[in-house]
Amino acid sequence: MYKIMTAGPTQVRENVRMARSLPCTNPDLDMEFFDFYKETCSMLSKALNTRNRALILGGEGILGLEAACASLTEPGDKVLVLDNGVFGKGFADFVKIYSGQPVMYTVDYRNPIDVDELAAYLEKNHDFKYATMIHCDTPSGVINDVAAISRLLDQYGIMSVADSVAGLFGQPLDLANSKIDILCGGSQKALSAPPGLTMLWVSQRAFDAMVNRKTPIASFYANILLFKDYYEKKEFPYTMPISDITGLRQALENYLEDKDVYKRHSSIAAAVRKALAAGGVKLYLESGYSNTVTALEVPEGITDMQLLRGMEKDYNIMISGCFDVLAGKVVRIGHMGENAYPDEVADTLRALQGTLEKLNVPVKCDMAEVFRKAL
Ligand SMILES: *Cc1c(COP(=O)(O)O)cnc(C)c1O
Repeated sequence: MYKIMTAGPTQVRENVRMARSLPCTNPDLDMEFFDFYKETCSMLSKALNTRNRALILGGEGILGLEAACASLTEPGDKVLVLDNGVFGKGFADFVKIYSGQPVMYTVDYRNPIDVDELAAYLEKNHDFKYATMIHCDTPSGVINDVAAISRLLDQYGIMSVADSVAGLFGQPLDLANSKIDILCGGSQKALSAPPGLTMLWVSQRAFDAMVNRKTPIASFYANILLFKDYYEKKEFPYTMPISDITGLRQALENYLEDKDVYKRHSSIAAAVRKALAAGGVKLYLESGYSNTVTALEVPEGITDMQLLRGMEKDYNIMISGCFDVLAGKVVRIGHMGENAYPDEVADTLRALQGTLEKLNVPVKCDMAEVFRKAL
């Protein structure tokens, strides 16, 4: 087994794995399960300090992105797609699949979206039903101020869909002070449960928009409205993956007990950047670094595969490559959730350094040591 220091899925703590093996009831028929599900959702809302209703859907994080677009998009709707990264761009596909018209707002991939520039754009262009945006665009690790962006969009009555699959629970998000109508999260990133669940936080305005549609939602599995009255009706649209949910609940309790979770993520991320810089390894981003993932450029003269496979073979540590426009150009260390501990990250930096040196890429310091000193 590799130590997975990837940008998700992340390592899973033993008590989460144990919780997944508890005895199962019938989640469609057992009223206790409805209460357990509802209580877990309330904890998710409370964890993010929001009144928006949390829901847990059976399906990997991508399901939440698709469900948001499926549930809000009616044929011909114009949707503003904020694009400064691979996931940002990708939302356009979901909008198109559900017959919406995506309008791209594409800016530099090495920096966060500039809220003032977006404000100037919106002054002239604001005929959109909703906008999509990414909190942490994982391929680069860039952080966008989605709370501020959603407040800006709200001035024009534009709803906001935000993907924070790779941000939530590792990167602070002031949801109470935002106008995000559908926030998307996944089980396998900073919450450190295994992949398989989507979490959504849905505003009343988003539910109203779904209820008031002129056309039916063109999906069953991705239809958020089918969850609206599950508790009153004692009916889920499909059988809930109960073991995944008991695991998620334990992971959520781990998070809630962890009083310096955000401080730990931010100091580890800052120390990783400091160590890489001291070692002469170039970061992909110019600004907007996330607390959950760091993307570094593949040094000249070697390939991403040489680096990744070398770390796996000699150190048993797996980090992420990349895809789409960043394929082959960057590799990424996921330091979120259970990965965000000094020993884990120091081991990873030692493996990175050893592999680079073996590939004849000089490193200018002991990166693991610089990392530890910087914490
Ligand atoms: C991981 C992730 C998702 C979920 O999709 P995958 O199938 O795991 O790629 C969605 N959005 C972001 C920003 C992610 O990092």
